[in-house]
Amino acid sequence: MKQNLLDFDVQQLTAWFAEHGEKPFRAKQVLRWIYKAGESDFDAMSDLAVSLREKLKQIACVQAPKVMREELSDDGTRKWLLDMGTGNAVETVFIPEEGRGTLCVSTQAGCALDCAFCSTGKQGFSRNLSTAEIIGQLWWANHQLGKDAPSAGSGQAQGNWQISNVVLMGMGEPLLNFDHTVSALRLMLDDHAYGLSRRRVTVSTSGIVPAMDRLRDECPVALAVSLHAPNDKLRDELVPVNQKYPLKELLAACKRYLEKAPRDFITFEYVLLDGVNDSVQQAHELVRLVSDVPCKFNLIPFNPFPQAHYRRSKPEAIRRFRDVLMEADIVVTTRKTRGDDIAAACGQLAGLVQDKTKRTMQRPVALHD
Ligand code: SAH
Ligand code: SF4
Repeated sequence: MKQNLLDFDVQQLTAWFAEHGEKPFRAKQVLRWIYKAGESDFDAMSDLAVSLREKLKQIACVQAPKVMREELSDDGTRKWLLDMGTGNAVETVFIPEEGRGTLCVSTQAGCALDCAFCSTGKQGFSRNLSTAEIIGQLWWANHQLGKDAPSAGSGQAQGNWQISNVVLMGMGEPLLNFDHTVSALRLMLDDHAYGLSRRRVTVSTSGIVPAMDRLRDECPVALAVSLHAPNDKLRDELVPVNQKYPLKELLAACKRYLEKAPRDFITFEYVLLDGVNDSVQQAHELVRLVSDVPCKFNLIPFNPFPQAHYRRSKPEAIRRFRDVLMEADIVVTTRKTRGDDIAAACGQLAGLVQDKTKRTMQRPVALHD
């Protein structure tokens, strides 16, 4: 089998080149071709010796996941459904905004953590994605956006066709696929590959405490933590992994993370569920809970999916909840729901993962035909 070069971060690619008798600078040249030029054809890598190109053609390939379907939302959000083989698919979402373009990347097919309000969690866990499958989502999106961007002077709206930010908030728990996630992060950050700033790459976690410490030491990037409840009793129910890593430990890990983080705050994500976690009293409890962690809050109106038992909080409840946090001098953003006409909003990503739980009767969920 040919070696897929998307599976290597810079260090690994350099080591692999050395094993094949090639100098380190060759690895950097190839990286630039793959990630900066978006090239997958070795013959097109014109500054490599012909003999090296021939050798690479024999033993290597540059293979991003195959795209099964692309959907475009009325608001410009794009969603790609990527084939992961053996009945699995995951989703990648591009969200264009004024002055930036954010790609939301998946790290696992399904997720084992079974958060009560999450469509991905309802499917159970299928498998970890490889480094190639994670970084390949960027590679593909870049390729496609570059191809579709209106040419300057065409009279068409230019929109935003560049990926300036990456969030690991698609399907799966990134910190439970640690090694592949970190290799992919390194490629996002490396100047020979995508060269994104650490502040513009965000890992979102449900709170895998030991892995948060590892990430801090091995590859600190911006961190978002999915909180969703102001106390252990409710969080145990909504985010079951809380039973293993309760709030006290989680918040202590957040503080440790900030010692090395590229930003001086943690982003707490909080999905607002009608009548469950959205009262004014709970907002006050939340303020007390996070009082000694420098943080911002991202309030996410719940996005429904077919098997969901929850409802989105009323706009009035969202406003009241937000006001309590703001009165305590916490910076709060309420996430605009993007792409929900194509089920691309937070927590609606479902792909086509072979259902390991039988809860959804083997049918693809949350896909629109
Ligand atoms: N596993 C990681 C990252 C993927 S989920 C995590 O849990 O943080 C990305 C974000 O989407 C999380 O904050 C998650 O809680 C949120 N989310 C999940 N289901 C949702 C839904 N139905 N509506 C709104 N947000 C949801
Ligand atoms: Fe997994 Fe995140 Fe969904 Fe929880 S919210 S089930 S951790 S993907």
